[in-house]
Amino acid sequence: MSDDKELLETPDENKENPKKDEYEKICFMCRRPESKAGKMIDLPNHIHICTDCMQRSFDTMNNSNINYDDLMKNMPNISMIDLSSLQNQIPKNQQVKKKQPREKAAQKVFDIKSIPAPHKIKASLDEYVIGQDYAKKVMSVAVYNHYKRVFADCADEVEIEKSNMLMIGPTGSGKTYMVKTLARLLDVPLAIADATSLTEAGYIGDDIESVVSKLLAAADNDVEKAEHGIIFIDEIDKIAKKKNTNQRDVSGEAVQQGMLKLLEGSEIEVPVGANSKNAMVPLTTVNTRNILFICGGAFPDLEGIIKERLNKSASIGFNADLKDKYDHDNKILEKVTVDDLRKFGMIPEFLGRLPIIFTLSGLTRDMLVDILKEPKNAILKQYQKLLALDEVKLEFEEGALEAIADMALDKHTGARALRAILEEYMLDIMYEIPKDDSIGEVIITEDYIRHTGGPRILLRGQEMPQLEVHE
Ligand code: ADP
Repeated sequence: MSDDKELLETPDENKENPKKDEYEKICFMCRRPESKAGKMIDLPNHIHICTDCMQRSFDTMNNSNINYDDLMKNMPNISMIDLSSLQNQIPKNQQVKKKQPREKAAQKVFDIKSIPAPHKIKASLDEYVIGQDYAKKVMSVAVYNHYKRVFADCADEVEIEKSNMLMIGPTGSGKTYMVKTLARLLDVPLAIADATSLTEAGYIGDDIESVVSKLLAAADNDVEKAEHGIIFIDEIDKIAKKKNTNQRDVSGEAVQQGMLKLLEGSEIEVPVGANSKNAMVPLTTVNTRNILFICGGAFPDLEGIIKERLNKSASIGFNADLKDKYDHDNKILEKVTVDDLRKFGMIPEFLGRLPIIFTLSGLTRDMLVDILKEPKNAILKQYQKLLALDEVKLEFEEGALEAIADMALDKHTGARALRAILEEYMLDIMYEIPKDDSIGEVIITEDYIRHTGGPRILLRGQEMPQLEVHE
């Protein structure tokens, strides 16, 4: 009898362990969290069962219509099997954090006053991102408006359109870097996905909704936090509609179609702590209404499409102009219109859900030099700090930086090449310097970078002409 009593009692586990209160209870049988399955019946050893599963089990145990309450009293003593050990097997990353009451959470995460004004957002971006002034400005305003909209939401004001963005710019021009920096400055979770890995549900690959579960993971499974996060989808140009095919287009158009409801805002059921839904993974619901979507891509042949349009209009009527007028215009990408993107293969509905379209420019030699030394966490500063730990000063000649920039330009991968190039030269330095305690300063010369000499080494107190470095 005493056993039965114990069985019916709700163990007050929250009192024992206040931290546990943060997480939702998960049904031991169907693995749905409390927010989906409704109130749970608590059994000893921290086991919870939703009423649906409980009822279903009773129905199977006994076909006749049995009173639910009676059954509870007559329930067999399941604590005979050590079920608690099974329940405890739910790993931490699969547990769902409880939703906070709305007003409270909004106050805590985003106070309208804590959203910096656009000029402040841009100023912070300036500390990390070199050039791309126009892109930084557009992005700062869009993000500011987006989070303002999130607040207006609660006040039930006029509906403001969501500021999803489309960034167009060559590889290595800082698209991903800008989004990452922004998310860090605003302290919001960020998920980065590659459009090429996304497929329609049912095909091999990540289904489209997996981006939301990535965001949930980035938000430590906190649904409220994830719902204010940013999702960046890179290589969006790779899901353009293929031209002239009669076959069903699985990879391109269908994925764009599939993304529509996500971009617009809908309730998405996502697995917690895993990439795919299966019976053992708890599910939770995330609303994408306030998630900011940023898509990025290099759109390689877009310039040709823009040129063709401009040339066509320029060669008609009184304004007829030279046919190759735009051939050497390196700002051609800035003239992009929605029609050009449609021609490229993006479907109109998809473009309609990305109201803010802007371009990033290709990086010039000067910008590359600045990227090496100016940002708060510039690569040069990182090396200088490393050597400073050995009490060695590291300097770079301006000509050396320009030589590195030239090499990076040749690789056509934007700023991405810089680190790799520099690493190659610094390897020898980092290997040789700690050998000799008397070295006080290293100067990386242009000759060293161009393979016509070595770096200059200054000993503590005196100067030594050159160091033998193996190439
Ligand atoms: P993509 O445009 O292809 O997404 P990334 O943003 O990944 O390029 O850029 C690669 C790396 O180059 C970044 O991690 C960053 O360190 C550097 N980088 C690129 N552009 C800039 C920039 N404008 N300012 C500072 N660093 C940059």
